Amino acid sequence: MKLAMLVALSLFVTACTGSAYKLPVVSQSEIAQVENQIKSDKNDLKVYNRSDSNYRSRVSSISKNLQKKAKPLCDYAEYSPCRFEVKYSNENIINAYAHDNYKITVFKGFLQYLQNNDEMAALIAHEMGHHLAKHNQETQRNAETGAVVSGLVTALLLGAANANNPYYSSYQQQQNQQTIENMMNVGFEIGAISYSKEQEREADLLATYLLKHAGYNLNKAQNLMYTMAKLKGDRVEGHAALASTHPPTPERVVAWEKAIEEIKSNNTLLPYQKDGAP
Ligand SMILES: [Zn+2]
Repeated sequence: MKLAMLVALSLFVTACTGSAYKLPVVSQSEIAQVENQIKSDKNDLKVYNRSDSNYRSRVSSISKNLQKKAKPLCDYAEYSPCRFEVKYSNENIINAYAHDNYKITVFKGFLQYLQNNDEMAALIAHEMGHHLAKHNQETQRNAETGAVVSGLVTALLLGAANANNPYYSSYQQQQNQQTIENMMNVGFEIGAISYSKEQEREADLLATYLLKHAGYNLNKAQNLMYTMAKLKGDRVEGHAALASTHPPTPERVVAWEKAIEEIKSNNTLLPYQKDGAP
């Protein structure tokens, strides 16, 4: 009975992270091809030393541009109000993240690896994609479920360990309660640490459509994915933070390319619904 409950909860975690849209299909051989390309690319990533004011004004103008053209996608994704608040941080952290319900923070540490406005727009549009798909709400739910699962597992283990113990005092019970609560916190953190691979791919898909609406060059923008994959391979300071919140896989490089193809033949300029007609 208890085990069945755990299984049900685990399934709930998985069910919550499903994409609402048809994600581009990528094959193992296509992924392997990009992996080899990255491995054989011996060039170090270039670091562009720009001023804070340069980054600040770029982030601001790109964000306004994307925001202006986001309405059709917001309506389609039922993201209301259609609002994004993008903040530039000059910290040397190789990351960007979507937080709260509409906020985004992009760090200088990441922007300095990007060549042009199209790549920077891709980074910001990706974070907007997380908001459009309401991933924060999903992650919050998963975090809570993770906490319940983790607490429940601990409760089961402690219960089993003490079932036949005649010296199991109320003090110990209290201690165990504390342990269960601690484990629930651990579960919460694990659940909240990162988006799933599917959520990342969904944010990417929404980003490509948003970039198209706003008139950016999708082929140039794709280089962001390649740079992320390379950043993971190269040992650079802060890359652990990037890897833990944005799994940068060659799969995303391929999926981005497929999305470009999809958009070329999709007159609605809105991603296909997962359960909709083909
Ligand atoms: Zn992401």
